[in-house]
Amino acid sequence: MSTVELTGGCLCGAVRYRARTGSAHASVCHCRMCQRWNGAPFFTAFSVSADEIEWQGTPPVEWRSSDIAVRSHCGTCGTPLYWKGDRQPTCFDISLMTLDDPSVLTPVDQIWSTVAAHWPGVLPDLPAWPGDDREGEPFARGSD
Ligand SMILES: [Zn+2]
Ligand SMILES: [Zn+2]
Repeated sequence: MSTVELTGGCLCGAVRYRARTGSAHASVCHCRMCQRWNGAPFFTAFSVSADEIEWQGTPPVEWRSSDIAVRSHCGTCGTPLYWKGDRQPTCFDISLMTLDDPSVLTPVDQIWSTVAAHWPGVLPDLPAWPGDDREGEPFARGSD
């Protein structure tokens, strides 16, 4: 498999990363901890190893969310950045939606479907508008 380069960062731009990987497996987690952490119906992440990712700018803040894992976020804007389990401490599950171009990866599986929010499945049936007068687009993109 060819190597892809993935760049991304938090909403305010203080934390940036660049990953080079040949196997960016992406998954959805519906667990209640990821729901609450993201304030969203699920967390979507891609996996890279520590030697495949380079952190730039302000280091992410890590905190222990349970006795098996740590989570991290930007200390300025709070964007969730990664989950890291103690069993594989060199493997980062990076928030897919922090990519500069999230469309380059598609999740291939999902876990904790037993506690999934009931409403994402109705989204295709809801009225949809292309935008509104709120922010919409990160202002601090691509600051290499
Ligand atoms: Zn930030
Ligand atoms: Zn989860």
